[in-house]
Amino acid sequence: MCVILEHEARPLSTSCTLCSSASNPPQEALIRCTDCFAFPSFCKVCALSHHPFHHLQCWSGTHYTPTTLKDLGFTLNFGHNGAPCPGYATMQAIFNPESSQEDLAVEDTQDSEHHLLLGPDVHNSSNHTGDMRETSHMTIINQAGIFEHNVRWCICANHDEHHVQLLRHGLFPSTTRDPRTAFTFSCLDAYHIDIVECKTSASSHFAKLRRLTNEAFPHIVKVCLLIPNCLGTLIMAIGPIP
Ligand SMILES: [Zn+2]
Ligand SMILES: [Zn+2]
Ligand SMILES: [Zn+2]
Repeated sequence: MCVILEHEARPLSTSCTLCSSASNPPQEALIRCTDCFAFPSFCKVCALSHHPFHHLQCWSGTHYTPTTLKDLGFTLNFGHNGAPCPGYATMQAIFNPESSQEDLAVEDTQDSEHHLLLGPDVHNSSNHTGDMRETSHMTIINQAGIFEHNVRWCICANHDEHHVQLLRHGLFPSTTRDPRTAFTFSCLDAYHIDIVECKTSASSHFAKLRRLTNEAFPHIVKVCLLIPNCLGTLIMAIGPIP
């Protein structure tokens, strides 16, 4: 029991699991992943490069509290292996050339290092400067729970439609027109097995996902009430149930 309770405390080593050997002094690790082996702890930068469908906790000084990649400023980029689409830098250079030069040079360096845009400040400031680096909000449903993410689409010449970009990244869109919700393929597989082996209804399976997302208060997980119907319809459409 003592060993289990030790998981609620901060580990003896407070340096980041990923970058401690590369950075001097080591970055302090305040965020940990409860879905990875042995609950590794990360600094904020390394946490942002972490798996987008894992549950994270942040050390508050006295205890761990749940946090999300979205709260930490993560943006899910489509089309370039997780890196921001270069089309936005090009668009800004065309429409806002004066402010783009120095800022983008700094940002691009950071982006190439971390393959993502760091911090919610970047997104907020982009809204005020009127540039083209807008993000969209998406609900992505995985077998481990329901995740909210800011996403940035690829806008390169000849880019795919949004629902095709989702499919290329292993996400099944709820609609082909301006999708705001998507399911991971593993989520659909898990639901399919639930139907076959446990005769679980779509609403019960979805209630389980809400409970996995917020165990204490599943009712406050904000989702569209039509999603269970959508989930059932998708399974019926994808394959016959034996
Ligand atoms: Zn780190
Ligand atoms: Zn993880
Ligand atoms: Zn692109």
